[in-house]
Amino acid sequence: MTECIFCKIGSGEIPAKKIYEDQNTIAFLDIFPSAKGHSLVIPKKHYSTLLDIPEMELKELIQIVQKVGAGIMKATQADGFNILQNNKEAAGQIVPHLHFHIIPRFKDDCLKLSFGSKQGEEKELAHWESQIKKHI
Ligand code: 5GP
Ligand code: ZN
Repeated sequence: MTECIFCKIGSGEIPAKKIYEDQNTIAFLDIFPSAKGHSLVIPKKHYSTLLDIPEMELKELIQIVQKVGAGIMKATQADGFNILQNNKEAAGQIVPHLHFHIIPRFKDDCLKLSFGSKQGEEKELAHWESQIKKHI
């Protein structure tokens, strides 16, 4: 029997505030929301991270993210939304079952989801440009 909390939500073994469900996918409200309507979209099948799900299943999943995102925008009258998807503990992944956060955003909501503020150095950017390309 699985100990994964999101597998249990997917199978209906434990409750969640479900906002969408089909054969392979489920979306539900995050229990610790960063904004009203903050939701998670997951495949029912267990995959730990984005790197583990087969391409065709990911295509289906991202289409549901789009559909649910549109519904959340309408329902909450949000001005925008962030998609957040954490992979592995170092990146802040707490639940090791692939999930997409949909976080509605409102003008002046002051929610902090920040990226680097210092421009990268040309030499270092060029180094990572060539290194990463080799692995794709
Ligand atoms: P992560 O940091 O892994 O990307 O985010 C996991 C998210 O799952 C967190 O935002 C957390 O609030 C949410 N979460 C954890 N356990 C549960 C649960 O049992 N039910 C629901 N609805 N959300 C959960
Ligand atoms: Zn799972």
